[in-house]
Amino acid sequence: MPIDATLPYDDQNIFAKILRGEIPSQRVYEDDFAIAFHDINPQAPTHLLVIPRGAYVSWDDFSARGSDAEIAGFVRAVGTVARAAGLVAPGYRLLANTGLDSHQEVPHLHVHIFAGRKLGPMLT
Ligand code: ADP
Repeated sequence: MPIDATLPYDDQNIFAKILRGEIPSQRVYEDDFAIAFHDINPQAPTHLLVIPRGAYVSWDDFSARGSDAEIAGFVRAVGTVARAAGLVAPGYRLLANTGLDSHQEVPHLHVHIFAGRKLGPMLT
């Protein structure tokens, strides 16, 4: 079910549980600001998710309330994950669904990294 990105943060969401180590994930990266793991239902040969450690519902929430250090750290983490996975030369796509119309389903900010095949000009 798509979520309303204006709702308050729910600390029982699945990515909050992954952050706390309460449910497993295939982690590929972690630092003070972010963790990254494989999407459980990959839409491309490489499909990673990068999430901030802080409790933010969406891109909107993070960009409004996140500290400069958190935002800088998170943006750097996304780039680091993509570089470490060898995705820069072949290329990759970033996506951060935000709210109902975007079909955001998990109410903790996550950036998708898609790569490993030629992607179409648009996602629908
Ligand atoms: P949508 O599901 O419409 O793509 P999102 O942008 O909120 O909406 O993406 C949530 C992503 O989280 C999905 O790609 C889904 O496969 C992934 N996901 C859900 N549960 C897990 C999990 N336990 N571990 C890894 N990825 C997960």
